[in-house]
Amino acid sequence: MVYFIGAGPGDPELLTLKGYKILKSCQVVIYAGSLVNPEILNFADKNAKVYDSSKMTLEEILEVIRRYKDKDIARLHTGDPSLFGAINEQIELLEKEGIPYKIIPGVSSIFAGAASLKRELTVPSITQTVIITRYGKRTYVPEELEKLSKHNATLVLFLSVKYLKEIVDILKRNYPSNTPISIVYKASWKDENVVSGTLEDIVEKAGNIESTALIYVGRFLEVIKTRSKLYDKTFSHMYRRSEYEDSNSFDN
Ligand code: SAH
Repeated sequence: MVYFIGAGPGDPELLTLKGYKILKSCQVVIYAGSLVNPEILNFADKNAKVYDSSKMTLEEILEVIRRYKDKDIARLHTGDPSLFGAINEQIELLEKEGIPYKIIPGVSSIFAGAASLKRELTVPSITQTVIITRYGKRTYVPEELEKLSKHNATLVLFLSVKYLKEIVDILKRNYPSNTPISIVYKASWKDENVVSGTLEDIVEKAGNIESTALIYVGRFLEVIKTRSKLYDKTFSHMYRRSEYEDSNSFDN
């Protein structure tokens, strides 16, 4: 069995308990060495065979999987495998060859970054939408950033910090130029760094952050005194009936 495990954003303690237990019991480990914190490998069985996929091609990864297909293989991906994890191409091959697999979710860096920023991505009456995307330079991105930015929603860009200037120029066509923007470098790692500003000054402030960073854009970054209805005493929902309201809007 191949287990695709979301290894979390960096801090080894942000690996899930399920991921930890499975990793411990696997005889083979293939980890994305470019981003997965190598300290996580300390949780693996000390006799496990360990491969760094950042130095391998897809074919070579598959070769290792084929060789050990009767054993349990932990395939460690950074954050959660469903976001920019390149698992599709591996899954396709596993299905073609009839090799069973499971996916164990992980804590995406988008959430570790939000935690570092101490912000909620979906702020009541500001935005209830998060757009997760990347800037397309060498990789084709079907959606245009300019169109996405028309919504004024919370916007989070992966794999893009190298193109910060180009991105900001596009965003300024739709977001007001005083819109807050933050860059979180290596969220949850010991050398994490957060740079915050507005669309006007962020390029200058960000200096030379070139990789392993997320770009967060939107008014959710401001300190806003809005309240959700969830804990509002005048709002009823599935688990609590308000003494003030006879509402039947049971959103959950
Ligand atoms: N599946 C991963 C993302 C993999 S793509 C996840 O869910 O987090 C790799 C990109 O993710 C990096 O270029 C960077 O934009 C982002 N990233 C991964 N780990 C990060 C971290 N600890 N801090 C900030 N950005 C990170």
